[in-house]
Amino acid sequence: DIKVVRNPYFSLRIVPTVVPMRYLELAQLYQRLEKTTLKTLKTRLVADFLKKVPNDLLEIIPYLILGDVFPEWDERELGVGEKLLIRAVSMATGVDAKEIENSVKETGDLGESVALAIKKRKQRSFFSQPLTIKRVYDTLVKVAEISGEGSQDKKLKYLANLFMDAEPIEAKYLARTILGIMRTGVAEGILRDAIAEAFHVKVELVERAYMLTSDFGFVTKVAKLEGNEGLAKVTIQVGKPIKPMLAQQAASIKDALLEMGGEAEFEIKYDGARVQVHKDGDRIIVYSRRLENVTRSIPEVVERLKRAIKAEKAIVEGELVAVGEDGRPLPFQYVLRRFRRKYNIEEMIEKIPLELNLFDVLYVGGKALIDEPFIERRKTLEGIIEADGWIKVAENLITKSVEEAESFYRKALGMGHEGLMAKRLDSVYEPGNRGKKWLKIKPTMENLDLVIIGAEWGEGRRAHVFGSFILGAYDPHTGEFVEVGKVGSGFTDEDLIEFTKMLKRLITKEEGKRVWFEPKVVIEVTYQEIQKSPKYRSGFALRFPRYVALRDDKGPEDADTIERIAQLYELQERMKGKKIA
Ligand code: ATP
Repeated sequence: DIKVVRNPYFSLRIVPTVVPMRYLELAQLYQRLEKTTLKTLKTRLVADFLKKVPNDLLEIIPYLILGDVFPEWDERELGVGEKLLIRAVSMATGVDAKEIENSVKETGDLGESVALAIKKRKQRSFFSQPLTIKRVYDTLVKVAEISGEGSQDKKLKYLANLFMDAEPIEAKYLARTILGIMRTGVAEGILRDAIAEAFHVKVELVERAYMLTSDFGFVTKVAKLEGNEGLAKVTIQVGKPIKPMLAQQAASIKDALLEMGGEAEFEIKYDGARVQVHKDGDRIIVYSRRLENVTRSIPEVVERLKRAIKAEKAIVEGELVAVGEDGRPLPFQYVLRRFRRKYNIEEMIEKIPLELNLFDVLYVGGKALIDEPFIERRKTLEGIIEADGWIKVAENLITKSVEEAESFYRKALGMGHEGLMAKRLDSVYEPGNRGKKWLKIKPTMENLDLVIIGAEWGEGRRAHVFGSFILGAYDPHTGEFVEVGKVGSGFTDEDLIEFTKMLKRLITKEEGKRVWFEPKVVIEVTYQEIQKSPKYRSGFALRFPRYVALRDDKGPEDADTIERIAQLYELQERMKGKKIA
């Protein structure tokens, strides 16, 4: 990229110089974003910034703007905690690590305290160079890729080097990026709109391209360099996860059949964790529901998949279920435990055996299948899978009969499964959409996945931990999380300690016994009923919510929205007095 600079002495001569973009510009963007809560203004700020970004940075900038370094599905992680970060800042500034730690306690904001330390920097190296975005990014990549013996020390040195050359404001946001606590309130929706605004392309095309590739870096590049035409041509690729198609809940089998036009395919709804499998020859990648790369945590499934998928190149989807000694399914938390495990994986293979029930195929042998009718995809799936007892195609029934479907439903529940899925025979695969082409039927109301937006300190014996949590649902219109209730039951003492540890670093505001968090942590709750409530801005309140599980397979953007709660409220009213199974 060439920046044109007018030479004041030879006003007619144009001197081209290559000016790499400074990290300071990005830090200033973060600061402006943090100062406003207006979604439209945030969008404009990001759009204006994107316009200035040189082509060689286009693929990395979107992630940095979101406060990340890599896409979620990238296996790389920085692996830097607060302690190591403070040590690096201390090394770069000569300010004692203890002093920085104490300052964090005072400011409650690590970024701020890091900036203060930089201001106190004792000396600056003679060779000091202003930070460029490229240098920051390249260094963070190196930090993520260091492993093995002495890796902490090496990381420390790389980071200290960056902080040595950072201005206070740069250091503040660099620290936040490293710890993954950006607090600028820019999520996927704003970024999507900003890309459209910056490069004058259609927002629907940006959205579509993102749903198909989950790669904002790639989408930004295509938007700028190839415009609408390029975006329209984007299609799924092996190696890039596709946003999963989702379902709504139906009140009964009969309702589901009616909705689907009188005939549907019913499948067992397994209660496990959804996975998307990409196969390219000998290489298998498994993505979780939130598209994190979980391949390494389930090596035995990967080995079986290599044999079970007969196609050279394919993308298939299924539900991974943990099975107990009696052959019945175990609660889905068991599968999540497998995903979380980083060490001694062998031992877990024995303890929590996994069964994979495949239910869709999105790509085979060079061809994307998402625009084909479901029934065709199902046939293709059956054709490329060689079942082995652990990996199989989901059990199904295609029928027009309510009675037949109901008996299949009872059978599924009897086997310990969650219920049934109904799928429209002619439906295409709609990435990221929760429509009515897929419906789930189950005997209970849905649990809700909500974001912890605040908490209250406990009392007495529990005064040092949070005792209850304020639950938020996403409001797509304002981009905020709005309160729908408070949950205090269902937690063990250990849970509360864990949650306190996890949430403390996300505190944004304190009001007496109440604290507010950056919306990051998603939990699943049950409840007795959804009530209409004038008290909350959301319009709804949960009656007797109870904690079920930490959903670290979901990000805040996957949490339930107010619209979903409104739908569930309708459903609840319709299900009242109805016997389903
Ligand atoms: P939850 O998994 O808690 O029901 P969700 O938001 O992940 O919520 P839903 O749209 O509610 O997803 O339901 C679809 C989910 O059900 C899929 O994401 C998948 O994990 C799971 N599932 C189990 N069996 C099937 C199946 N046969 N077909 C499709 N999805 C299935």
